This record gives sequence, C-alpha cells and structure tokens, in this order.
Amino acid sequence: MGKLKAYVPVLLSLLISFVIILLIGFNSVNKAPGEVYKVYVDGNFIGAIKSKSALEKYINNEQKSLKKEYGVKKVYIPNGIDIEKELTYKGKIISEKKIYKKIKEKKSFTIKGYIVTISKEKEKDIKLYLLKKGIFDKAVKQVLYSFESKENVLNYKNDTQAEIKTTGSTIENIYIDQDITIQEAFISTDELIFTNEVDLTKYLLFGTLDNGKEYTVRLGDTIETVAFNNKLSPSEFLIVNPEFTNVNNLLSVGQKVSIALISPILNIVVEKNVVEDMDKPYDTIEKEDSSMDLGTTQVETEGVNGIQRVTEKIQYVNGEARPAYISNVEVLKEPVNKVVIKGTKKTYGGVYTGSIDPAISSGSWGWATVSPYIITSYFEWRWGRLHEGIDISGCGMGSPIFAIESGTVLSTYDGCSNYGSISDSCGDYFGNYVWIQHPNGVYAVYAHLMNGVVAYPGQQVSKGQVIGYMGSSGSSTGTHLHLGTFYGGTKYGEYGGGTVFNPLSLY
Ligand SMILES: [Zn+2]
Repeated sequence: MGKLKAYVPVLLSLLISFVIILLIGFNSVNKAPGEVYKVYVDGNFIGAIKSKSALEKYINNEQKSLKKEYGVKKVYIPNGIDIEKELTYKGKIISEKKIYKKIKEKKSFTIKGYIVTISKEKEKDIKLYLLKKGIFDKAVKQVLYSFESKENVLNYKNDTQAEIKTTGSTIENIYIDQDITIQEAFISTDELIFTNEVDLTKYLLFGTLDNGKEYTVRLGDTIETVAFNNKLSPSEFLIVNPEFTNVNNLLSVGQKVSIALISPILNIVVEKNVVEDMDKPYDTIEKEDSSMDLGTTQVETEGVNGIQRVTEKIQYVNGEARPAYISNVEVLKEPVNKVVIKGTKKTYGGVYTGSIDPAISSGSWGWATVSPYIITSYFEWRWGRLHEGIDISGCGMGSPIFAIESGTVLSTYDGCSNYGSISDSCGDYFGNYVWIQHPNGVYAVYAHLMNGVVAYPGQQVSKGQVIGYMGSSGSSTGTHLHLGTFYGGTKYGEYGGGTVFNPLSLY
C-alpha cells in the first residue's frame, strides 16, 4: 500500500496530462479547417456553415418569440431542412445568420390553427387564418350587429319578435350568401393570423386592419354632410362610428370622427317584412266647360290624398336594401280626386295665351312611377361610390314609367332583355333607358326599363306621359327604376357634362 501511495501523484499527473491531450486533440479536430455543415432545404443545397448550434440558436429564438406572439405552446419549425456534416469541404462558408435568412425566405414556421374559406360562384375564394375557431362566429355576429340591431337579431333567433298589428317590421330570415368552410391546418406564421374577434370583426367589415382616416368636425357640420362629403352613406357613418345612435345626433366642433370606408368581406343577408302607411295619391279629373274661356281653369274640388297600408318584402345585403316587392296593399282611406274645370269657349278677338300645362316651378314635378312604391336606394354614397340617383321599386315588372315633366327625348336604348342582371351580356349599366331633357336645365335618365321602351328620340313628351315600363335590365339586382337627374347636361355623350343632383330635391 505504501508503494502505491507513492505512485499516486505520478498517476494523477499522467491522468491529467492524458485528459489535456484528449481535450487538445478533440479541439484540434473541431477546428480542423475542412469540417463544415452543409445545409439543404427540400434536398437543395443552400450553403455551408461552420456551426450547427449557432444556426439552431437562430431557429430556437424565432420559435420562442413566435410562441410569445401568438400565445401558443407549439411552433413548428420549417420542414425539409437537412444539415449534414462534411469533413473535406473546400467551398465558401457563409455566416449562420445568412443561412437562417435564406431558410426563412424559402420556408416558414407554422402553428396549428384554422383556415376559413369563403367562396361564391364566379368570385375568387377568400381565405382567412385564425388561431381559434370560436372567434369566427363571434366576429360574424359583431358584423351583423353593425347592420342590424342586436335586439332585433336576438328576437328573431329566440322567436320573440312582436307581431305587426298596424305598422312595423319583422326579420324573416338571416343568412350569409356565401359558402364558408373552416378547416384545422398548419398555418404559416407569414400569413395574417387572427388571434381575437376584435381584429377579425374589423377585417370582415373594412377588408383591412388599417385605421381609416379621421375627420375633425367643423362648425355647421352634421352627420349627413360629413358622411356625404367623405363618400359614406349616413348608415355607413353610423357603422364606422358606433358611438352615434342615429343621424340626428349632434356633432361638436373639434370632435374627431372616423371616415373609414367599409368594404365587407361577407354578404350578410337580412330579409324583412315591413308594413307601413303611405299616401294614396289622388287623381286629377278634368271637366270641360264651354261657358269658360279657353285657357282658363278652375278647381271644382281640391284633391285629398288617401292612406294605404303597404306590406313590403325587403332584402338587405350588408345593410343595403335590394329592390323590394310589395306583397299586400290595403286602402285605409280612399283619396278624394281633384276636379278641374277647363274652359273651352273661344272668345271673339280673344288671344289664346298658350300652355295649359302646370307651371314649371319647384313642387310641380311629377312622380315617375305608380303608387305605392318604395325608395330602396337614395342619392348617397355606398361602399365609396356615389349612387347617382334614386332606386324606386315595389311597383312590379311592367308597371308604367312616367315622364316627371314635359321635355324632349334625347336618346333611348331598348336592346336588353327584361330580366337582365350584372352578368347579362347587355353590359351597359343602365340597361334599357330613356334620357329626357326637361325644363330648367334638368336632364333625367330613366333606367333598367323593361324591353319595349315607348319613348323615341326627338319625341316631345308631356308630364305624366308613359315613356316605358319598369324592368330589371342592365346592371340590376331586381325590378326597379333608377331615376338619375343632372343639371346642365346628361352624364355622357353628345349632351354630356351635366352635374348630378338628388332627384328628391325636385319634390
Ligand atoms: Zn340605382
């Protein structure tokens, strides 16, 4: 034992030097100039690096930060990456950072989530990427509530809508006019991935996550004027500024309001049954009286409008009314017709003083359709485009269309089929139409008429004269009349250059 004890230091020092040699030896192997790692993506060589662990560090760090960003436990690294050790490499060695960048250009990290595919015939599929499935339903509800009150929607769903006893409206159906599928999938973290319903709602409504422009309220502004001047309809203004409840809310000077344009991703359809009372207009009956001078008139009985209760079926797509139809009319009070006596006596030496047409002044303009009717679209902005006129519907295919004043027919078109649509090869926006030059610089277009236009170019028409019949030709989503009015000219062509104005300002 004593001998062995004497050897211990020698053995120990031998052991230490052996370990040192081993370490140096291994180190020198590691630092051998020929040894590298070759990196492949899907079998394609993308470069060589010195340190495998340095590259792994980049990948791990990215994984960590993505886990944090999306709040998920697992982030999948790009697949198809191979790293092979090579001892006799003579080519160029590049930095691990560069290789990492190259990998990221070709491949992405993925996380488990859901792909929502929104599809419609003849339209391109829209894909949305979600972290959680449940946020889609929640966001769709929020979008729906921006077009229709939550209270109404819940009453419809719970079958607790109040029955219409006199007038009012009920929802008959709510649906999305697109096919929607939701699939679980690995999603590239390079995509826009929705993690909460607030962002998703905003995206479904505006088609972007950018905050739209803001407007600072000035003296004299109203919701209606701010909306119109910024290409929004009043109802769109209320959607982008939910703190306001109706268009009559006051704005305060200096207040900032959103003027973001909505561009809905979904087509949310709400079908309603509406009952409302409207005037039943009186007719004017003329009687001749040979004891009165020609050119003179006298009102025998003043006209009084009656009342009619009208039941309408209206379809709203993302809050925008489509041409409606009337399902029932009940007359509550018959109108009293106006009776006018016209003199026919030609007095000797008397001078015929001219026209017995109504005076041309504000309030004298006639209506273009029969009654009852529904105005389903006003002269206002919708989705960033001005609707240059009003849409009148509910009168039915083939109901007469009247000239709103006397005038000269400038042009007509009668080549489109009766039931044209946007896809109709008769692509002209107006379909069958009549342009009339009315008094006081007013030019009017009567559009989407049924095949069989009555008016012809050069014709002199009088107020109330039938010029055609209500149809759905051209770019039209249902039977209606589009009445557009311009000042100083028509929209295009020979008489073009007119300024569009709201036809309702004539009445
Ligand atoms: Zn229109």
